[in-house]
Amino acid sequence: MLLDVERLQIGFGAFSPVDDVTFGIDRGEILGVVGESGSGKSLSATAIMGLLPRIGARISSGRMTFDGIDLVGLPEKRMRRLRGGKIALITQNPMTSLDPMIRVGPQIDQSSRLHLKVDRKAARARSLALMADMQIPNPAVVYDLYPFQLSGGMKQRIVIAMALAGEPQLLIADEPTTALDVTVQAQIIKILVDLVKQRGLALILITHDMGIVAHACDRVAVMYCGRIIESGAVERIFENPRHPYTKALIRCIPRLGMVRGSLSAIPGTVPNAAAYPTGCRFRPRCPVAVVRCQTEIPKLHGDCEGHGTACHLVTAA
Ligand code: SF4
Repeated sequence: MLLDVERLQIGFGAFSPVDDVTFGIDRGEILGVVGESGSGKSLSATAIMGLLPRIGARISSGRMTFDGIDLVGLPEKRMRRLRGGKIALITQNPMTSLDPMIRVGPQIDQSSRLHLKVDRKAARARSLALMADMQIPNPAVVYDLYPFQLSGGMKQRIVIAMALAGEPQLLIADEPTTALDVTVQAQIIKILVDLVKQRGLALILITHDMGIVAHACDRVAVMYCGRIIESGAVERIFENPRHPYTKALIRCIPRLGMVRGSLSAIPGTVPNAAAYPTGCRFRPRCPVAVVRCQTEIPKLHGDCEGHGTACHLVTAA
């Protein structure tokens, strides 16, 4: 595995918003990490990027290795070399990554110059090539524009080009299309999928949208209240979802020809880490909870085909 995360627990004050999370990803693979807001998916990405201290959180236990390097406790100086280089992050809002006062081309150059130590001319040539790969029309013209002169979709393409400029092996895209309209969303997802297949990158695609997972990912880890509650190959999980939460998420995917008003929603909300219920954290929203669910946290159990589920009813079956 290129990245191995094993029994990760993240501490935030007295609470553990991410608990006992295990997953891995290899080159050429797309792993969807899916869940509602507050499920711990972005926090897990923040841990991989070594950015937890910036938000006052810490890794309380567990292991994370990237290409054989132990990420837990890696000195910040070494982590800085990996971040933006071998491991790159694409965020939901392109303006988190872009400087509004600098033309977009030189912002891509900076990444090549910092991580690959190329000179100004070579960096510019790389940036133009990357912009063309991102299907940006007239790269030489766009190179000299400021972020405010570009649409949301174009800005996100620039951010992806910046992420690629450091020649990453692992790309983490955190809700990369949420702020975009549906047509542009599809274009950006296609660019990301093509990148993985053509360059052999590993992509962790964080999303709340099971439709995107079905369309783009090879494997999926469904998170709820800081824990993975179901994981496995995308086809298997969509053919045979076992956890009540995964089933509910799949029912929420809009489909062509649906009668207006027939779209499902999951009743209730995700509690914050200070108010997690005892036992199974999905219990207050679960339509099939039994007495055991009140006291015992279900563990993730996998079958021989790597389809894991954390639900007392599935384990008992
Ligand atoms: S463990 Fe119990 S509460 Fe949790 S999902 Fe399964 S049945 Fe529902």
